[in-house]
Amino acid sequence: MKFSELGLSESLLKAIKRSGYEEATPIQEQTIPMVLDGQDVIGQAQTGTGKTAAFGLPIIEHVDTKDPDIQAIVISPTRELAIQTQEELYRLGKDKHVRVQVVYGGADIRRQIKSLKQHPQILVGTPGRLRDHLHRHTVKLDNIKTLVLDEADEMLNMGFLEDIEAIIKQTPADRQTLLFSATMPPEIKNIGVKFMTDPKMVRIKAKELTTDLVDQYYVRAKDYEKFDIMTRLIDVQDPALTIVFGRTKRRVDELSKGLIARGYNAAGIHGDLSQDQRTKIMRQFKNGQLDILVATDVAARGLDISGVTHVYNYDIPSDPDSYVHRIGRTGRAGHHGVSLTFVTPNEMDYLHEIEKLTRVRMLPLKPPTAEEAFRGQVATAFNDIDELIAQDSTDRYKDAAAKLLETHDAVDLVAALLNNMTKEAASEVPVKITPERPLPRRNRHNHQRGRNGNSGHYRRHDGHGRRHGYRSNGHRSDNHGKSHSSRHAFNIRHRKDD
Ligand code: ADP
Ligand code: MG
Repeated sequence: MKFSELGLSESLLKAIKRSGYEEATPIQEQTIPMVLDGQDVIGQAQTGTGKTAAFGLPIIEHVDTKDPDIQAIVISPTRELAIQTQEELYRLGKDKHVRVQVVYGGADIRRQIKSLKQHPQILVGTPGRLRDHLHRHTVKLDNIKTLVLDEADEMLNMGFLEDIEAIIKQTPADRQTLLFSATMPPEIKNIGVKFMTDPKMVRIKAKELTTDLVDQYYVRAKDYEKFDIMTRLIDVQDPALTIVFGRTKRRVDELSKGLIARGYNAAGIHGDLSQDQRTKIMRQFKNGQLDILVATDVAARGLDISGVTHVYNYDIPSDPDSYVHRIGRTGRAGHHGVSLTFVTPNEMDYLHEIEKLTRVRMLPLKPPTAEEAFRGQVATAFNDIDELIAQDSTDRYKDAAAKLLETHDAVDLVAALLNNMTKEAASEVPVKITPERPLPRRNRHNHQRGRNGNSGHYRRHDGHGRRHGYRSNGHRSDNHGKSHSSRHAFNIRHRKDD
């Protein structure tokens, strides 16, 4: 359905168009009219289906820009999600000049207090920090019209119920209450009963838990083999933007250090990093300045990063739902993605559990040989050379180039360039990753059934004429392609300047 049929005003339609949204998603189509109408709504739809705009657009529509009071509050489980939501609401409300602010823990509260004095009309915040501000009377919710519990399942998982109740108590009883969630555990219905007035339920059934746009592979390997196989796979698949999931913080640290040691542009995020460090890394990743983000499940939960082409599950998740969350980072908005899951021989049951839930059979992938990895690197270098030559700023090097060709053989020169542009063989840079205890063997008689039961047929992913993820260049966004080549360009210059 078109956004113009939903009863939104011109300035919002403009912002929607600028955001590149062509059609409303199902959750948006169904909830926007109800929210505009002032009703309480419980909306459930998978991650990545546009729930932010589903509540954000009607809220922005209702904002009175002449009223300096906070008119809507959005409670968000994590700092990252709060920031992301603030950014989206700001973007959508820009034409209407709506002020949207965000508050979260781990950041300087005085600075937040100062910006709160600019009278935001929409406030996004994490539960603890919001409570803190209410306590200090630096946030007043007496006049809010709408309260949103976003990612409600996540907030309950994180034990925020008490904070949420405390915040709700400070809001007018006749407010509109909205609740959005990816899943619908029974506790959520309790919230509906307790804090909402005759809430309307909108549930968008997930037709498929994982999208057809993601080709899902697995590699069977022993724990100590995984790192070398992963870097070879990266060389062969040449991903534009990758997330690597590790099971523990230590894993994330060691994997990101190991990737950097082998010349990849990687960084890791997990809960032990400061908020500043995490924000910085996320920004670099979103801008394409970073090719590989290594993360724990918790650190990456719900993050909306567009353009992720590859998800590598360095460790298979013990819980099939986590797998679905992880894979949901790619194959978004119509783009094609690849996921690759490492499985140690005694973890195969976990793989089957995942397949039961997603009803998609993962395809086995043979680890590339060192030779294949090398050829992959050279192929990448070829692409980058095409891009480097296409840049028209090379004219002033032409004399120098001619001189070099007088004293050196052309093949020697190009071989040296290729050597510079490619990484050293994995075997030259040994990386040791501390073994993690493998997942406990599953009891065969105690298998959990997948959510959808296990009677159905698996969909297979190999019938699209797309032979899996090797060289997914065609799907690279311009942006990331550019950053890729400029990285090499930088390397070359760097050497020269030394
Ligand atoms: P959810 O909260 O359901 O996980 P988000 O609100 O974070 O999902 O949206 C996921 C991504 O989809 C965001 O990048 C958002 O900008 C984008 N998006 C939202 N609505 C649309 C739409 N109608 N068309 C295209 N993209 C959209
Ligand atoms: Mg969301």
